[in-house]
Amino acid sequence: MTFSLHGVAVSRGIAIGKAHIIIHAQHDVRETLIEPAMVDAEVARLRAAIEDAAGHLREMRTRIPTDAPHDVVAFIDTHLLMLGDAMLAEEPIRLITERRYNAAWAVRHQRDAVVQVFDQMDDPYLRTRRDDVEHVMNGILRSLQGSSLSPASGEDPDLVGAVLLADDLAPADALLMQHHGVVGFVTEFGGPTSHTSILARSLGIPGIVGVHHARRFVQEGELLIIDGNEGVVVGEPDTRTLAHYRKRQSERAKYSVGLNKLKRAPCVTRDGVAVELQANVELPSDFAAARDVGARGVGLYRTEFLYMNRTEPPTEEEHFEAYQQLVKTVSGLPVTIRTLDIGGDKQVDPALTSRGKGANPALGLRAVRLGLKEPALFMPQVRAIVRASALGPVRMMIPMLSNLEEAHQVIELVRTTQAEFARQRIPFASDMPIGGMIEVPAAAVFADGFAQVLDFLSIGTNDLIQYAIAIDRVNDEVNYLYDPINPGVLRLIAMTIRAGQRARVPVGMCGEMAGDVRYTRLLLGLGLESFSVNPAVLLEVKGLIAGTDVSSIRLLAEKMLKTADPGKFRRYLDDLG
Ligand code: PEP
Ligand code: MG
Repeated sequence: MTFSLHGVAVSRGIAIGKAHIIIHAQHDVRETLIEPAMVDAEVARLRAAIEDAAGHLREMRTRIPTDAPHDVVAFIDTHLLMLGDAMLAEEPIRLITERRYNAAWAVRHQRDAVVQVFDQMDDPYLRTRRDDVEHVMNGILRSLQGSSLSPASGEDPDLVGAVLLADDLAPADALLMQHHGVVGFVTEFGGPTSHTSILARSLGIPGIVGVHHARRFVQEGELLIIDGNEGVVVGEPDTRTLAHYRKRQSERAKYSVGLNKLKRAPCVTRDGVAVELQANVELPSDFAAARDVGARGVGLYRTEFLYMNRTEPPTEEEHFEAYQQLVKTVSGLPVTIRTLDIGGDKQVDPALTSRGKGANPALGLRAVRLGLKEPALFMPQVRAIVRASALGPVRMMIPMLSNLEEAHQVIELVRTTQAEFARQRIPFASDMPIGGMIEVPAAAVFADGFAQVLDFLSIGTNDLIQYAIAIDRVNDEVNYLYDPINPGVLRLIAMTIRAGQRARVPVGMCGEMAGDVRYTRLLLGLGLESFSVNPAVLLEVKGLIAGTDVSSIRLLAEKMLKTADPGKFRRYLDDLG
């Protein structure tokens, strides 16, 4: 009988295929004691499994497409480092030799013990490390049990056209899904901001996470439909349901082909409003993919990667080289370099800052606050950005502003640097725009003040939502409250856009909401005319912009801001289309 399960949609699209269940090893480990005579062989099996898991990762590393997000490579390297650490095998070997555990049981035992320690920490950065430990140990378990996606060349016939069903998937698995021809995936755990989800989005593989207990309902080989737009998994579909989704699938395929035609088209609405559509990038090399889909520059270059995995701050030259490379790649289009946004969920090596994280890192010394307190971290970056301004249309963007004083201080540092460069005849553009991110509710409410001081504003919804609704963006217990269209959040967005319009200061949006096609028309209706999005969704956003008559939806967007009736609110959103 047809049944449906619900989870969090993380990667759009419809997939139809036979279920292939990945038995990830945390389950189904048999707790059997081994014979004393088997101890050496079991230890050898463990060592071989660790080597196998490492080999698996090394192989995978060679398969990473050049345009894959850079953090996938970093992620695999971290896991390889962990697997190379002799300490990792110590405790399982003790369990095998002293307690006669079988190897899988010993590994699972240690994994659970370590994970439990991490679970008791409330630091978001350390919680991420917990996932690393878990993925690495699960990799060994999979090798021991022989149940995994494997990078072996050639396709696995069980996987071609399959929908994967697993407890959780590592980012590396997402890459292998593409390699093996998997069409979609469902996991019981995970969240929309996990690396696996981000990667699946950029690879265009429809997926749903957080479908608790999915494996209780689904049998191996059963037909599944993944609706990656709505977060619904349909099992054993009847002919009508199947026909419905096949139709939607082919409509979407046609739609995607149509979108390709938009690559070179100007980004204007049906009623002629020109909209700026730019890309978010994390590495200078990321822009190549964005240019292919017609991005008109970079609306957010996150520079944190320059500070990661090191114990000394990056030098002015290192900054400059990265900026030079990006400006060159973007060739003549605007490049918005955001100054360091370290802290909160983006922690770096503690040796870099010599400051504690505090009990609430998201509310602590992060982003511009940290930059202003730590000139050794900040000034080489400011100087490099000012130098880069001589190379092309560079804009500097300040994250996490909470008051005007911070903006004035940064502007002052730029002016002093420019004066020094002028004396030393170092080239720079004296008219380099300096803008700020509106991510703190107090800044959104006072956007008119910021608009008097800054050359442009950019709404960072990822943080604005977290601070406005008072939910930690990395805490999955409160994920359900993370709502871009919470009426209070919408008002903050609308206030910021209006403040910019009144002051004739451009206002853009670079948070994930800008690339969420469910809200493109609402944002246009609120007057947003500049979007910076993940390159993977750029064409779809452009398609919606091109199909919108802004003048006809302004009133609906306005009504959404005013109503206190949830039914009407929903209806207006539906009417926006
Ligand atoms: C944001 O907060 O919306 C944003 C774009 O910045 P980040 O996600 O890097 O904090
Ligand atoms: Mg932010």
